Amino acid sequence: MFNRRKFVKLSAAGASLSVLSKQVLANALPSVPTATGFPIVISTWNFGIAANQEAWKTLSAGGRALDAVEAGVKIPEADITNHTVGRSGYPDRDGHVTLDACIMDENGNCGAVAAMEHIAHPISVARLVMEKTPHVMLVGEGATQFAVEQGFKKEKLLQADSEKAWKEWLKKAEYKPVINIENSKGLPGNQYNHDTIGMLALDAKGNISGACTTSGMAFKMHGRVGDSPIIGAGLYVDNEVGGATSTGVGEEVIRNVGSFLVVELMRQGLSPEAACKEAVQRIIKKKPETAKQIQVGFLAINKKGEYGAYAIQKGFSYAVCDKNKQDLLIDGKSFY
Ligand code: ASP
Repeated sequence: MFNRRKFVKLSAAGASLSVLSKQVLANALPSVPTATGFPIVISTWNFGIAANQEAWKTLSAGGRALDAVEAGVKIPEADITNHTVGRSGYPDRDGHVTLDACIMDENGNCGAVAAMEHIAHPISVARLVMEKTPHVMLVGEGATQFAVEQGFKKEKLLQADSEKAWKEWLKKAEYKPVINIENSKGLPGNQYNHDTIGMLALDAKGNISGACTTSGMAFKMHGRVGDSPIIGAGLYVDNEVGGATSTGVGEEVIRNVGSFLVVELMRQGLSPEAACKEAVQRIIKKKPETAKQIQVGFLAINKKGEYGAYAIQKGFSYAVCDKNKQDLLIDGKSFY
């Protein structure tokens, strides 16, 4: 039986053990992960490693979790090789890059933008919606207008390689968006094309904040909004309990108000992993046939700094950064 404490100790000795983590940790973690206390930051997928490292700069200096998560998720938002988050996201089926994001702090304040075009850092616009308007969410042209008023640069986001991929897709797509099917090589939404970054941080004071940002489902219908910018679906934080975030097919997460559900289950005493598992099982129970074909993953943390994840399909990984290790990548357990 694999011993996680030994793994953490071992992994401090060499970066190559991130690879080991992928092979060995899947389905081998105990149900209640070891709490490493705080500060700590966790985020979805392997690109979460670099994002966490950025967030860690704020957290390790005693900064606020809210500042950490905003700075952290801006890394994949700015990464031109990342086609699922931020400026280089794949467009919708009409060729528009439309971005979704939300952010939530330890006081229950939150802000969001959805289907926003031409602005590279939706998470920062979401934060300003939270801090400078009486609203929670701005969408479409209104979101872009607000961003420009706040000094953001309006720019063309569609990159040449994204445009090429979209045009290729148009040839055989029958104009239907492709849902996120894990392990279907070569298609948008497959394991080479992940996905949303959801990040949760617990700062040195023990306060929790979260951020979630995405370009959504590749080649989606124009105007489609997934779970990621919706408070309670793609992200939820309650400073008394913990936080949760999700990735995968947003429609199923919205139907089940997934991240809110995970936090409420933790409030009732479930560990982060058990809460994520229960939320995944609700999705499967509601639509068992659909669930076989799609991926949804939840990631959660509680007030003690215990974290865990659970997904429908294999292949969901998440990154953890704390005082012991800044680049830990763990395979989440899964139903299938
Ligand atoms: N949850 C995102 C959405 O539905 C996409 C993803 O995480 O793959 O827009």
